[in-house]
Amino acid sequence: MQIDKETLKKDFKRKLTALYAENISSASAFHKYYAISSLVKDYSSEKWMNSNDNYSNKEKKQVYYFSMEFLIGRLLGSNLLNLGIKDMCKEALAELGIDLDELLEVEHDAGLGNGGLGRLAACFLDSMASVGIPGHGCGIRYDYGLFEQKIVNGYQVEIPDNWLKNGNVWEVRREDKAVVVKFGGEVTPVLENDRLSFKHENFEAVLAVPYDTPIIGYKNNTVNTLRLWSAETIDKDFDFDSFSKGEYTKAVEHKYSVQSISQVLYPDDTRVEGKILRLKQQYFFVSAGLQSIIRTYKKMHKPINKLDEYIQIQINDTHPAVAIAELMRILVDEEMLEWDEAFKITTSVMSYTNHTILAEALEKWPINIFKKLLPRIFMIINEINERFCKEVYAKYDDLNIVHDMAIICDGYVKMAYLAIVGSHSVNGVAKLHTEILKERELSKFYNFFPQKFNNKTNGITHRRWLLQSNPKLADLITKNIGQNWIKEPIKLINLLSYSKDKNFQDKIYEVKQANKAQFSDYFKSKHGVTIDPNSIFDVQVKRLHAYKRQLLNVFNILDLYYRLKDNPSLDIVPRTFFFGAKAAPGYYLAKQTIKLINTVADLIDNDQAVNGKIKVIFLENYSVSLAEKIIPAADVSEQISTTTKEASGTGNMKLMMNGAITIATLDGANVEIRDQVGDDNIVIFGMKKDEVMEYEKNKSYNSTEYYNKDPRLKRILDSLVNGSLGVPTSEFSDIHKYLLANNDEFFVLKDFASYIDAQNKIDELYKNQGKWREMSIINIAHSGAFSSDNTIKKYARDIWRIVK
Ligand SMILES: *Cc1c(COP(=O)(O)O)cnc(C)c1O
Repeated sequence: MQIDKETLKKDFKRKLTALYAENISSASAFHKYYAISSLVKDYSSEKWMNSNDNYSNKEKKQVYYFSMEFLIGRLLGSNLLNLGIKDMCKEALAELGIDLDELLEVEHDAGLGNGGLGRLAACFLDSMASVGIPGHGCGIRYDYGLFEQKIVNGYQVEIPDNWLKNGNVWEVRREDKAVVVKFGGEVTPVLENDRLSFKHENFEAVLAVPYDTPIIGYKNNTVNTLRLWSAETIDKDFDFDSFSKGEYTKAVEHKYSVQSISQVLYPDDTRVEGKILRLKQQYFFVSAGLQSIIRTYKKMHKPINKLDEYIQIQINDTHPAVAIAELMRILVDEEMLEWDEAFKITTSVMSYTNHTILAEALEKWPINIFKKLLPRIFMIINEINERFCKEVYAKYDDLNIVHDMAIICDGYVKMAYLAIVGSHSVNGVAKLHTEILKERELSKFYNFFPQKFNNKTNGITHRRWLLQSNPKLADLITKNIGQNWIKEPIKLINLLSYSKDKNFQDKIYEVKQANKAQFSDYFKSKHGVTIDPNSIFDVQVKRLHAYKRQLLNVFNILDLYYRLKDNPSLDIVPRTFFFGAKAAPGYYLAKQTIKLINTVADLIDNDQAVNGKIKVIFLENYSVSLAEKIIPAADVSEQISTTTKEASGTGNMKLMMNGAITIATLDGANVEIRDQVGDDNIVIFGMKKDEVMEYEKNKSYNSTEYYNKDPRLKRILDSLVNGSLGVPTSEFSDIHKYLLANNDEFFVLKDFASYIDAQNKIDELYKNQGKWREMSIINIAHSGAFSSDNTIKKYARDIWRIVK
């Protein structure tokens, strides 16, 4: 469909009137946002329908990305961009006296994810559509996304994220495609015609209603689908039986209990929540998703044993791993396949992405909870386990190995093991991470199934993270190397020839300064706080977690503060340290770290002696839309996790793509960023993988040694508990205890000296602007390697076996 400015203007006015009986002068910004979005959706509908028709007519292999989280952010800007009508729309609205940028700001973020894992899923959706892969998302339509963070008196306060309260213009409710998901009850085997079947009775039936959102490819004809499931009671809002017996509250209670399944996203991405409701969420969307996939498949009239030739399912971490057993249930119980054939098909359909090796994040469910909620699924996992254990025993003749690899063991169902055994591909998300999986965490499984293991380093969509969020940089790039990089981001490498070009370096600097000024203006108008755009913007934005070591960052700031106090003429480039981070509501140490950051910010603000040289800003409510604002303005990218703990990281890639210089440990994808840009264009510090693993194996680390021998550390740690930060001495005693008495699990004290040196090096490098700008250009040039388009093509080729 070709739309020109005049058509759009006419359509927009008509839409505003149709929706709200309003004209431009009387409509609120939200109504204008909603009208233009509704129009954009109209414009994409035909392509959406045609994509679906094309997929079924041509019997194309479909990929489904199963994920508990999709951290999408806003859609109006990216949809306009991908449809190729953003500039035209901006002009058309301007002619009507409307500022498109203002309308973009009105959209509520779709925050259905915690952090990296959910954002990866969103980048993959954008890339699958843009590369032209028939790939769809399957997840949960949470009524409440990740909480909104407020900072009150330096502490985090959580506010429910009621993102649907003004409606969601992008989704289509498809009640006709609802399916029933069954929980609990009893399962009894019955013998019928020489075949065992399983009778499921007294279950709780929940209606799963899909809401579809179009995922628009970049300037192509592909529109894929993100299908999110919502839980509802069947047929009736009230249980009229109970109602008529006068048990009104009981009836309403049932309704709320069902709805609670899709009510809220669990706000912790690193520790498993052993709640029944969480398992219920998992089975709910997995069962609904699979039922709808099978139903669509059957419309093609293909034999069920060819399922894997037409359907591929990627499970994003272990959260959807129960899909393996659910597909077995459908194939064996409903499609009447023999076990072996069903298992062969299932493993050929499924593949699993591992996202973490943190022990506290490895999902396992107590057998009793599992069995009670999912009786038939438990039986199936039991059968998978028994057959697998026999194979392991046959191979090694060693019961210890069987014990270590069993899916069900020591009272638990281990979801990662189920995911490995039940799929044909197991991938880590960065080279280093995959190596660690093979060598240590999953070494027994690697030995048993070497062919299943592979690496797929994460990526990010350059459309959102450069083209959309940093238009000034995108324009500058296009002016110099042409526009091919937009379709083929690897072509950013052509910027290399400009890295020493003085004129281009100046332009790069101008863009960065303009973005910094723009961010400062935004921050000033929103919070009334002045930020110096001539200071170095040093940015650590990511979830708050001990392993990501925001504490290490704070310790450098305190050390710098003391150095400035001791030597007021210390020659440093003024620096603004930005933190953006949500802490899981139940994660006490993380919340205390937020309080510490804000305490140090106040300490510095209230001290004339250091004012103007350093400043700390805590960015409230870090989210996708805030990331899009701060990342283009960043000079320094903080990627300082304890080596081996960050599986990949994707924030590191976004910042690199926007010209920030990375200060990093050799962890996750930082290693690959280093390999791309070379040692001269990144600042590396800290322990290496082998060193960390040695310390952990021998338990030979003693944090107190470092406290005793480094007077800087002594001063900082003492300040936590001696009142010198201007808060009661008890405020940070638990952080103090965690680092000393409890021996500093993530080696903050150990890496401190090396980090300070690296930070000093950053200061030196920045003073040499020629060098700094050259580094920045080299980083942008190599960032195309981290485009999720590349990543997704590798998934398609190696895992989903899609030839393109
Ligand atoms: C990219 C992104 C993340 C992941 O950041 P890491 O530094 O890789 O942990 C988290 N939250 C948001 C909002 C993001 O955009």
